[in-house]
Amino acid sequence: MLHAPATLRPAPAPEVPFPDADLMHVTDLLSPAERERFAELREVLQREVRPLTAPFWNREEFPFELLPKLASLGLGQLQTDGSSRLFQGLAYMEAARADVSLSALVGIHNELVVGMVHDLGSEEQKRRWLPGLESFTSLGAFALTEPEHGSDIAGGLATTATRDGDGWLLHGAKRWIGAGTIADFVLVWARDTADGAVKAFLVETDRPGFTATKIANKIGLRIMQNADLVLDGVRVPEANLLPGATAFDRANDLLRDSRAWVGWQAAGIQLAAFDIARAYALERMQFGRPLAGFQLVQQQLSEILGNAQASLSLMVELARIQEAGRLEMAQSAMAKATTTRLARSSVAMGRSLLGGNGITTDYEMAKLFGDAEVLYTYEGTYEINSLIVGRAVTGASAFV
Ligand SMILES: Cc1cc2nc3c(=O)[nH]c(=O)nc-3n(C[C@H](O)[C@H](O)[C@H](O)COP(=O)(O)OP(=O)(O)OC[C@H]3O[C@@H](n4cnc5c(N)ncnc54)[C@H](O)[C@@H]3O)c2cc1C
Repeated sequence: MLHAPATLRPAPAPEVPFPDADLMHVTDLLSPAERERFAELREVLQREVRPLTAPFWNREEFPFELLPKLASLGLGQLQTDGSSRLFQGLAYMEAARADVSLSALVGIHNELVVGMVHDLGSEEQKRRWLPGLESFTSLGAFALTEPEHGSDIAGGLATTATRDGDGWLLHGAKRWIGAGTIADFVLVWARDTADGAVKAFLVETDRPGFTATKIANKIGLRIMQNADLVLDGVRVPEANLLPGATAFDRANDLLRDSRAWVGWQAAGIQLAAFDIARAYALERMQFGRPLAGFQLVQQQLSEILGNAQASLSLMVELARIQEAGRLEMAQSAMAKATTTRLARSSVAMGRSLLGGNGITTDYEMAKLFGDAEVLYTYEGTYEINSLIVGRAVTGASAFV
């Protein structure tokens, strides 16, 4: 589906053997029930979500009206509905293939917000928040990064939590927090001034002393509302401390899994790049024939598809060990670094394949080009994830 003005109409569906890019028949690995659910998900995301997103991306606005649609596809409860890891991953991938910002919302929501409340929250916290989260009638945010601490956040985290009678007082600032201006609550990581341990608190966004300011003028993920947060003596009751998150290493499993989720996004953005590039190449005429007939154009299509399939195949293997409970941080880091490196290369090729039309978001590829930069940097930058792998294979840490 090409987003194009009337002068450039999509070509009639061509008779080609692999029109949907699933060259390796990955969906055969799902159970019949999940395969059916996946087919519907892909269809609805492509037909009813993807075409609506570019104007929101251009205006840096959040499409609240799409939340019920995402909820109806079960995308608010992937962590709690018993889906296989492979299904979850393929759902993240298809969400990214439709729109990378929305897939970021879906991924952070499931991997870090629902996952954290479900795995580390109290029974009361679960009862209060999970039903709304699962139906996307409530939104949460995950606040770890700070203005002065990004890559070194684990050791450097400066936001403080101080006991105050039967509650806690939070002081500090957070940066880049996804959905920070639209969430009902934020999961804030802060250092206990008494014992120095990093703990997580559920902070409702209407508490006095909490402010969230949208970060504007981003070059990617423009639909996602990222925010600078200030916690100026925000008071929360003891019941808002997550009982399972009283030391930072409790976040490690979640961060390992969310790192892997970005790999699925990277596979999805490359499939989107392939879809758009292929449609454009079939339709755009130069020298009296479609671009698709030129050897150099076919080589680029082949390379984008090869990168996408390599990323997808890596993620399928990762899902296998994740399902078996054997996923470790180094494997997630390797998958995240490798797939986002390939994604960056694929969207750059796609951008060039569209010529001048790759420069305007009217043809979608430019949107992917910006979004890929975020995938490369968040959930641990490319460099930091490479260094995590480097440490695992040499025993020598080059960064801490
Ligand atoms: C759009 C977007 C959404 C985000 N969403 C969230 C969110 O919802 N919640 C949240 O908590 N965070 C979020 N983040 C934060 C993200 O995880 C950080 O941006 C990321 O971890 C990098 O931190 P930094 O930006 O401070 O960069 P820095 O840590 O300052 O790094 C700058 C550069 O230096 C390099 N570098 C740093 N240390 C080393 C080293 N030891 N060796 C070699 N190179 C090094 C990095 O690789 C990078 O290239 C988001 C970021 C973006 C851009």
